Formats: sequence, C-alpha cells, structure tokens
Amino acid sequence: MTWILILGGTGEARALAAALADVPGVEAVSSLAGRVREPRLPVGDVRIGGFGGADGLAEWLRVHPVDAIVDATHPFAAQITRNAADAAHRRGIPLVVLRRPEWSPRPGEHWHGAADLADAAELLPGLGTRIFLTIGRQGVDAFADLHALWFLIRAIDPPDVAMPPHSALLLARGPFAVADETALMREHRIDVLVTKNSGGGQTDAKLDAARALGVPVLMIRRPPLPPATATVDDVAGAIAWIGALTRR
Ligand code: NAP
Repeated sequence: MTWILILGGTGEARALAAALADVPGVEAVSSLAGRVREPRLPVGDVRIGGFGGADGLAEWLRVHPVDAIVDATHPFAAQITRNAADAAHRRGIPLVVLRRPEWSPRPGEHWHGAADLADAAELLPGLGTRIFLTIGRQGVDAFADLHALWFLIRAIDPPDVAMPPHSALLLARGPFAVADETALMREHRIDVLVTKNSGGGQTDAKLDAARALGVPVLMIRRPPLPPATATVDDVAGAIAWIGALTRR
C-alpha cells in the first residue's frame, strides 16, 4: 500500500482525493487548515487543523505512514507550502506541488501587477476609487487605511480583521458566471478589480467581466515556491507522479 498525504483546501485537492479513491494500492488522507466554516469535504480520510509549523508536520510525518506528499494547497498558501517542503526534506519523503497554471492577460485586459497585498494597497489609490476586492477574507486589513476609496469585498466567510471604513461585504463562494459578475460590477460602479493570480476556472469570470466593462485589474502575483520544488499543474500530473513512485 502507498500512503499519500494531500495538503488540500482547493478544488484540485478534492478532485485528486476522489481520483485516488479509485486507484488500487493507494490510500490518501486529505488535510485541511480548518479556515472555512463549512468546508467542502474531500472523499476519503480527512484531518482538519494546523500541524504546528514545520516541526509539527515533521513529527506528524514521523508517526503516520506517509510515502509521499502532494501539496495541492492554494497558490497563495505560502506558509504551509514552505513547511511541507521543509518537513518532507527532513523526513526524506517525496513531495510534489500541484499548482494550476497562472492567469495571464488576454487581449483587451488592462493589468497592473502587485508583488503582494501591501504593494497592491499602495498602488490602488492611483488606479480608481470604487474597488472590487476579491482576495478572500485573509489580508483585507492591508486595505484598511484607504479611507478615500470604496470597496466591495467578496469572501466566503466574513473577515475577522480590520476592514476599509467605506465598504460593503458580499459573502459568496464561486464558481461565478460572467453575466452575474458583469452585473455586479456595473451595479456597484466598480472601476478597479483587485485579485490574486489564483488561476483556474472557478473564479476567472470576473476577468471576463472586467474586460467587457473596460475595468483595469490589479493582479497580485503569486508568492514563489520553495527552491527545487517538483511541480505538476493538474490532477492528472499528480496521479502520474504518484504512479511513477509506486512503480519504483
Ligand atoms: P498558509 O498561510 O500557507 O498557512 C498558515 C497555516 O495554516 C500553516 O502554517 C498551517 O498551520 C495551516 N495550514 C494551511 N493549510 C493547511 C492544510 N492544508 N492542512 C493543515 N494545515 C494547514 O495558508 P492560508 O493562506 O491561511 O490557507 C489556508 C488554507 O486555505 C490552505 O489549505 C489553502 O489551500 C486554502 N486556501 C487558501 C487561499 C488563499 O488565498 N490563501 C484561497 C483558497 C483556499 P500549522 O503551521 O499549524 O501547521
């Protein structure tokens, strides 16, 4: 039996858990941080909650039978990705990062790049005044001091950090349709869209809507992966990587 730890919290992680349930000789356990109040649970075994840093994860890997790790966390979940690379290295356990491809600007889209949330907050006042902030609930406080701007903040659960003083909160979970995104941005007279470069097809309708409305996009770049990390960009790639390990 080959035991796989899937670090999850994404659609790809759930799809991988579902696919591995049908692979003979492979057992997977999915790990979730426990951030979302009502998470979409993967099929199969699931554990929820932090490990206690890289040391905690290394200890968890010592006492659990894990042959390989697939880090299928969100491209912006940089801490767990660093911890996983560190702990896997210490335990000599093979690890691959499953990262969906980034979005890149298409004709008709007007992108401005930001290195991180703080950089985005600095750039924003020069770009517009009515902002659609779609970065999730974490990190909203980076924009809390922008008193002159109005924000439509969309997240799955309410932020538990400081919010910009002039804002409305919209609780919603994707996928979203282009027509709805366009109507929403029109209704709120949005003149800048702020998003992380998450990639994938669940939340990219807002980019189509922004293009249709001529609204510029402030795109926050992904944090770098730890050096020398093996990567695959979809579930099929992760399954092939696991297959190659089990044939060794
Ligand atoms: P993060 O900053 O990289 O991680 C912070 C801490 O949360 C980690 O040190 C770890 O705690 C715990 N953690 C994160 N992912 C975990 C997992 N899959 N299993 C167990 N513990 C985990 O992560 P984040 O940005 O807060 O994201 C949390 C989760 O939400 C991730 O699983 C990610 O896939 C998902 N998510 C994130 C975003 C985003 O924009 N950041 C968007 C969609 C989904 P310990 O140090 O105690 O082990």
